[in-house]
Amino acid sequence: MNHIADLPVDLDALRKDFPILAQRVHGDWPLVYLDNAATTQRPRQVIQTLVEVYEKHYANVHRGIHWLSEQSTDLYEEARESVRRLIHAQHLEEIIFTTGATAAINLVARTWGDSCVGAGDEILLTEMEHHSNIVPWFQLAERTGCKVRFLPITDDGRLDLDRLSDYLTSKTRLFAFTAISNVLGTANPVRQLVQAAHDVGALALVDGAQSVPHMATDVQFWDADFVAFSGHKMMGPSGVGVFYGRRDLIAELPPFLGGGSMIHRVTVDGYEPADLPARFEAGTPPIVPALGLKAAIDYLERVGFATIAEHEQRLVSLAHALLEEIDGVRLLGPPPEEKAGIVSFVIDGIHAHDVAQILDRRGIAIRAGHHCAMPLHQRYGVMASNRASFYIYNTAEEVEKLALAIREVKRVFRR
Ligand code: PMP
Repeated sequence: MNHIADLPVDLDALRKDFPILAQRVHGDWPLVYLDNAATTQRPRQVIQTLVEVYEKHYANVHRGIHWLSEQSTDLYEEARESVRRLIHAQHLEEIIFTTGATAAINLVARTWGDSCVGAGDEILLTEMEHHSNIVPWFQLAERTGCKVRFLPITDDGRLDLDRLSDYLTSKTRLFAFTAISNVLGTANPVRQLVQAAHDVGALALVDGAQSVPHMATDVQFWDADFVAFSGHKMMGPSGVGVFYGRRDLIAELPPFLGGGSMIHRVTVDGYEPADLPARFEAGTPPIVPALGLKAAIDYLERVGFATIAEHEQRLVSLAHALLEEIDGVRLLGPPPEEKAGIVSFVIDGIHAHDVAQILDRRGIAIRAGHHCAMPLHQRYGVMASNRASFYIYNTAEEVEKLALAIREVKRVFRR
């Protein structure tokens, strides 16, 4: 069975760009890396960029008036422009480099949240959020007295849109939701949800950590107010992420972190914050990770987001077909057509950690646990699940190996 033959990408050639994938583990098992929702691997092009920057272009940015600092500042600002184009933001200063999606969401909670939310206001989340998009809002509630609510999900892993109007009300100040569930793979109707938030006068924050790496993104089409995502989930280095905020909303917000770079002027009497984007980039920013992120974006754009999404769709369909045939395996979430490249499952009577451990002995890396989404697991009455998550470099053969290894797990536990 070859579900990838007619894709306009040569996977054998593409995989050669990822030296880490060519390894053999635990004896002679080829590494099968299916933990891409946790973090992805980097191609040589990104790794070489990091080496080249350190060898030729590295200095602090926006500081020195020397040759090297000007070079690194230019490159850093080119990386910002590359992110702007990637997500189709209107203005360059709407792109703020952070250390990741978590930092970006916390930034919104600490700046917009602290200055615009009060007791009696509501923040609406969904039951499928990652802890990164839950805990900062509980913390905001502790500081301000606002209330955090959760839009329920259905048994088959969709947002319960029939109940949206019960939860999204004139009290809601922000609807913060993930574009794609990091457990269920569910692809949410982002534009429709943003529109619904705006209809009641609320703002909308889109957690794009699992969507931006895998499909074309247009924040203007979404009409999103805030968007967060991470570089390491899209072939970039760890330590860099992006906060997108609509210029008119964030230009006057009080800065969150204070320090160098984020000021116009400091005197013994106080300080005057800088304009965007420096206003939210206090201290030395993630310079080299941002340049690595640009290299990753270049790579992804060369492959093409339509190709990436189509390939992952095929792998998910294949995974569903093969795992559904195995007795006692319960797949979480909607059917494959409504999913991105993530498949989570539980196996009757076998703990998720045992499954992952046995698969690991065969070279297959999957995730076991609650995947930083405990409320979601509580909703389905399970403590933990297994998750296989795909990227453009995964093959149909690897999905077949996953299914065979799960059959083996079942045999081991029957004995
Ligand atoms: N949101 C979602 C949906 C995620 O999957 C993750 C990462 N697992 C995050 C937020 C947080 O990303 P990071 O750890 O890179 O800050």
